[in-house]
Amino acid sequence: MYEVGLVPGPVAIPSELRAVFQIDYGSPDLEEEFFALYSECASQLGKILATRNRVAIQSGEGMLALWGALKSVLRPGDKVLAVANGVFGYGIGDMARQLGMAVDVVGFGYDEVPEPQQVRDAAQRFRPRLITAVHCETPSGTLAPLQEIGEICREVEALFYVDFVSSGGGVEVRVDDWFIDLGLLGSQKVLSLPPDLAMVTVSEHAWSVIEENAYVGYDALAPWREGIEHQLLPYTHNWHAMAGLHLATKMILDEGLSAVFSRHARVAAYCRSRLREMSVELFPVEEKICSPTVTAAKVPVGWTWPGFDRALRERGMAVGGSYGPLAGKVFRLGHMGSQARDDLVEKGMNILEEVLRRGR
Ligand SMILES: *Cc1c(COP(=O)(O)O)cnc(C)c1O
Repeated sequence: MYEVGLVPGPVAIPSELRAVFQIDYGSPDLEEEFFALYSECASQLGKILATRNRVAIQSGEGMLALWGALKSVLRPGDKVLAVANGVFGYGIGDMARQLGMAVDVVGFGYDEVPEPQQVRDAAQRFRPRLITAVHCETPSGTLAPLQEIGEICREVEALFYVDFVSSGGGVEVRVDDWFIDLGLLGSQKVLSLPPDLAMVTVSEHAWSVIEENAYVGYDALAPWREGIEHQLLPYTHNWHAMAGLHLATKMILDEGLSAVFSRHARVAAYCRSRLREMSVELFPVEEKICSPTVTAAKVPVGWTWPGFDRALRERGMAVGGSYGPLAGKVFRLGHMGSQARDDLVEKGMNILEEVLRRGR
């Protein structure tokens, strides 16, 4: 472990959360207490994500939510419009194509956010059953406005699928106001837990499509509609992970949502201003589209990514590289959840400054 970890996930797990993994719980198949714990987690997540929708909490890493939600509402041949401005947005389009869907992509640069009018034109022309989008594109550090895309989904009667894995809990996400039918979250980003839960907010419209579709599989959403009421889940759940989720969501609500969101915004603004002082160029074209949970910047002039990474690690600091077309060109500072701390980000920026001053 590095003293200054500013990786974009999985993020550092604070000791309070680690403690629940030391407890020996009963069987989640049998105990009433487990079902009550699940219900409370779902209700706390609903508050954090501003939704009255039921929340499915599945055992597995975040990608489980991305795959399971696609497979649960779609059949091969269905039309999917992927709104894409980064690795995950284009990737979700690829996933739908691999599942046999007819996919159209309304694409933007990795350093941009989607432009709603272009999305509207594409949606009206293509008439998809599902529109997919990504709130925070973690590999490129952008945060896309979603409300208008949600309105477009209503206009064309498409379901709205949103990956907010790396923003939910650290940035305002308004599932109901933004008409999100399938909202996807993972445990290892802002919630600062191990990568073992996949959460999906599911609207009534989406539940009815899921029922009609009748997809079965480990990742299927259908059993989560009434599984808790009937105390019958499709597999043995992970009590430790659920106890962690209960505490992580409670910590967010106790701190207060607006305090949590402003803490993220503040450390992100600080991080960007220090980078500017060091003449390190941000990757997104404009500061106002930068995500409060992760900062993506260009690898400093005169450095290679491996050399830069090594120099930081030698001084006890870990950051992230990037993926796809940004690999080797962009590095990322993750300041979400447990890592959205003023002292930690300040330490990190001091190390970065020293590394740049001393040179290779
Ligand atoms: C982290 C993340 C996921 C989950 O992906 P992993 O690479 O398996 O961690 C999905 N979507 C986004 C936007 C993410 O940041």
